[in-house]
Amino acid sequence: MAKNGLLIVLSGPSGVGKGTIRRLVMSDITLNMVYSISMTTRKPREMEVDGKDYFFVNKAKFEEMIHNDGFLEYAQFVGNYYGTPKDYVLNLLKEGKNVFLEIEINGAKQVMEKYKGKNLVTIFLVPPSIQELENRIRNRHTEDEQTIQERLNKARHELSEKDNYDYVVVNDDIYQASREIQNIIRNKQKEIDG
Ligand code: 5GP
Repeated sequence: MAKNGLLIVLSGPSGVGKGTIRRLVMSDITLNMVYSISMTTRKPREMEVDGKDYFFVNKAKFEEMIHNDGFLEYAQFVGNYYGTPKDYVLNLLKEGKNVFLEIEINGAKQVMEKYKGKNLVTIFLVPPSIQELENRIRNRHTEDEQTIQERLNKARHELSEKDNYDYVVVNDDIYQASREIQNIIRNKQKEIDG
């Protein structure tokens, strides 16, 4: 039987560059990773594809999934639901795949509680500064002013949670940060392989 895979959680404030880092980290195929596509009630952004970036659903469908205990974790974030489909992730882990979750802090807390044990590694990505974070969110041009302010307020709160994670990585240079995360995963893999 395959050994259980590693569950990797990447959190960090909105705009810190989690998506970019995740893509770079996952480009190393030797790490045997699968990205867990989340479900959300947020509307798709222009370039986003249903079933690739997210499964975009309405509130009723999301709440039905909650009711059926279909999520490993879920949370509300700036007015929308986001959640990790449970069976999909647990099956991949059972097959021995390393599963990568890119989720906000409340969801990450749920995973830390439910999935305590040696097959979990949690990483928090921080911006070099709050000012830099604001610049990045603004340059994305995907949110209106009110949403930007909400996301920045949320970011200040989120940053205070970083000590709950196994590792804190600064996203100053995307390549450097990605390599650091790849090394964290590689070392953890070695540790659990004994
Ligand atoms: P965005 O709207 O910018 O795509 O995502 C907003 C926040 O929700 C980000 O911090 C993102 O990492 C987080 N997120 C995405 N998917 C999930 C999920 O399945 N669960 C939780 N808890 N957060 C998620």
